[in-house]
Amino acid sequence: MTAAARPLPKLDTLTWDQSSGRACVWCKKLLTTGAVHAGTIRERMGAHNLDTEVWACPLCAAGEGAAADV
Ligand SMILES: [Zn+2]
Repeated sequence: MTAAARPLPKLDTLTWDQSSGRACVWCKKLLTTGAVHAGTIRERMGAHNLDTEVWACPLCAAGEGAAADV
């Protein structure tokens, strides 16, 4: 499964680090090198566009991260 095919978590379940792109969107590990763009979580709150770009560590992007077993 590719990162793009994997469902993204809801925006309100993300930590600050995840929503700011500093941590893996799936396993919450802080990203260093090799971060992979996981996609954009699209949400709206009234008139506000909350679209958030999220990133994944290489393991999760390859479907081998900690969250892959969930
Ligand atoms: Zn990860």
